[in-house]
Amino acid sequence: MNHIIKTPRLTLVGAGPGDPDLISVKGIKSLADADAVLYDALANEELLQYAPSRAIKIFVGKRVGMHSAQQQEINKLIVKYAFSHGHVVRLKGGDPFVFGRGFEEIEHARSHGITTSVIPGITSVLAVPASQQIPLTHRNVSESFWVLTGTTKNHDISRDLELAAKSSATMVILMGMHKLSEIMERIGKHRHKNTPVAIVQNGSLPDEKLGVGTVSTIFEIIRGKGIGSPAVIIVGEIVKSARPEEFRSIIRNSVSI
Ligand code: SAH
Repeated sequence: MNHIIKTPRLTLVGAGPGDPDLISVKGIKSLADADAVLYDALANEELLQYAPSRAIKIFVGKRVGMHSAQQQEINKLIVKYAFSHGHVVRLKGGDPFVFGRGFEEIEHARSHGITTSVIPGITSVLAVPASQQIPLTHRNVSESFWVLTGTTKNHDISRDLELAAKSSATMVILMGMHKLSEIMERIGKHRHKNTPVAIVQNGSLPDEKLGVGTVSTIFEIIRGKGIGSPAVIIVGEIVKSARPEEFRSIIRNSVSI
């Protein structure tokens, strides 16, 4: 190992939503040049094949609500391997800057004089609805979309959720499955209880699952179908336009709306 000549550097690479073919060419080139790869639970392990066999590969993932202690541990590992090995590739699910704590890693690395760069990824925000052919904007149906998290730092529901519910934007909610009934209750304060909702688990992967319902029925529907995390929740009329069949049968079978 040539410790002396290797410049310590960090590249955050977006791994895409799950399907390993959805990483960018630039992301693959960066992996091919890695001396160490630190990868998340949501980054597909198949992507490690693009890294040299001599590169060290470390799993640093945890699925539900990363604690700050663990984040600090990851920050430390980045610095450690940048100085001991050279080029650290931090492979992160989706896009590194969308609920990915990517910038914290950048700041920490920079504070140690490590050169940083970012290769964006296809975020689950876009890719998971696309996998079910649910557009986020559509002429005459939805003019904008709002991306939200269901899990904030202090475990409260974000105030932005109700602001978004007051708008007419399509809502795309990540990390929301643990608070699904509360989230729907909050949305129901501002939007009609019949507002269509789709939930997609494991989007772009072979075991992708879809649940379709309304603000008032979706919780029971996904429970019945056994749908859980990781999932993207899409709220808005667009769901009805995109999945009319599922939506009609949901309305027909529903008694509680
Ligand atoms: N940086 C990531 C998001 C990290 S937060 C990105 O840009 O996609 C983790 C959340 O992303 C999960 O709780 C889930 O809401 C969503 N997610 C990521 N991959 C997903 C997938 N393949 N299917 C469904 N949801 C996914």
